[in-house]
Amino acid sequence: MTENELRNISFSPPDITDAEIEEVVKAMKSGWITTGPRTKEFEKRIAEFVGTNKAACLNSATAAMELTLRILGVGPGDEVITSAYTYTASASVIDHVGAKIVLVDTAPDSFEMDYSKLGDAITEKTKVIIPVDLAGKMCDYDSIFEIVESKKELFKSNNELQSLFDRVIVMTDAAHAFGAERNGKKCGQVADFTCYSFHAVKNLTTAEGGAVVWRNDIGLDDEWLYKQYMLYSLHGQSKDALAKTQKGAWEYDIVYPAYKCNMTDIMAGFGLVQLNRYEDLLKRRKEIIEMYDKALLPLGIQNLQHYGEDFCSSGHLYITRIPGINENQRNEIIVKMAKLGIACNVHYKPLPMFTAYKNLGFDIKDYGNAFAMYENEITLPLHTLLQDQDVDYVIEQLSFILKMTS
Ligand SMILES: *Cc1c(COP(=O)(O)O)cnc(C)c1O
Repeated sequence: MTENELRNISFSPPDITDAEIEEVVKAMKSGWITTGPRTKEFEKRIAEFVGTNKAACLNSATAAMELTLRILGVGPGDEVITSAYTYTASASVIDHVGAKIVLVDTAPDSFEMDYSKLGDAITEKTKVIIPVDLAGKMCDYDSIFEIVESKKELFKSNNELQSLFDRVIVMTDAAHAFGAERNGKKCGQVADFTCYSFHAVKNLTTAEGGAVVWRNDIGLDDEWLYKQYMLYSLHGQSKDALAKTQKGAWEYDIVYPAYKCNMTDIMAGFGLVQLNRYEDLLKRRKEIIEMYDKALLPLGIQNLQHYGEDFCSSGHLYITRIPGINENQRNEIIVKMAKLGIACNVHYKPLPMFTAYKNLGFDIKDYGNAFAMYENEITLPLHTLLQDQDVDYVIEQLSFILKMTS
């Protein structure tokens, strides 16, 4: 192969057109750059897209999850369950509020929590479960809610909001899954609370950003709940900056010594244009996934299935598993791909393998299934700046490397 055949394929660059740039410039020229009209518009558009009554925009999915736990009154003495196979944010928010992190292993040959073990993990202290819609594919919520219902008698409510549920609350880490669907419902309509990320590498981005939505059919007071997110994300200040700009209306109260994680109108302007383009972005992701599937599955490479009769993911990550290789061999393949100009990644190194979680007492030996998913996993580049020739190049190079490895 000659030098000039080498391509440079990054893993997940942002897809930004002039339209996003123009909208951000407009926001900057408007005289209003922090939370204001564009953020309110973005919230409205997200809620319309997902099919919920309301959405609250924040500066990250992490903030959305943490504030939801705080608003639900989850704290010391409580337990919150999530998957061992996820990014640290799904679990760190539990620690932030002072609750105990409970990690459940994945099911054999699955990227989802082992639902048979999930039932056993629920105790009288369990307040919330955080499923992870990995790679943009919605989890099996029928099973999750069935388990939650079957453990209903264990649930001890600490406040009025928890009493409304009267069972363990399901709050999804949907950092990958904005736009996903399952059984005719959008990601956001199924879990009690759903938290999205608009971080730079996600499939809809605002550079940094996030949002939370909640189900319409629980009987939650939408206006009250929305107000809580606004208070918790802006110092507990009774009037936001926009409300205070009304002449003479300087006076405000601080109702709680709260946090600071609001979205800015610059971010929201960016997001509004991404949302306009989103259906096209999802379509292009699907085309790329189908190209990968067509070429790689016949080689015996396993994938996370994004599309089926009753589900359609947001196509966030192209997750593969190479049968029969160990951790070292996997890492060597990633280095070889890098030398050919192709950036790959691993999603995920299970949490019990990290220092922070080891220090909390977790041991990867107790998470054998998650380790098995991790040791031969390679995530290929998947983003909407990829040309068909780039996808072909990734396929060719990976096929070649695997032939040499076996
Ligand atoms: C990116 C990511 C997050 C964190 O999102 P932020 O918006 O950066 O807070 C959480 N969970 C998963 C699975 C992620 O990939």
